[in-house]
Amino acid sequence: MSSAKSFRKEEIADKTVIDSSGKVMGKVKDITFTLDETITLVVARPDASEVQIPLSKVMGVSDHIIVKEEAAPKQVVVATTPGSMLVCKSCGTQARPGTQWCPGCGRSLG
Ligand SMILES: [Zn+2]
Repeated sequence: MSSAKSFRKEEIADKTVIDSSGKVMGKVKDITFTLDETITLVVARPDASEVQIPLSKVMGVSDHIIVKEEAAPKQVVVATTPGSMLVCKSCGTQARPGTQWCPGCGRSLG
């Protein structure tokens, strides 16, 4: 059961956090949890601000921590042709052209 894998704080801290579109959000600075079992990653952004990401948004942990793309208010419609989609060699997940990291498994698509 891979879902039962647990992570020590040392395995998470200082990892780069990227969203599912491949955009770097920052690095894990700390982890907080509440008594009602909500675990939150504290991510230091490049501009030194902090963002808190609930663990429920984390899609995967490998060399990087992949989180679901933030629900941005702007609707950017990227016109893509089906043939130009990138396909991860490891897990087969499709990603938009220009995506650096697989949204499925976090491996480099480069
Ligand atoms: Zn993959």
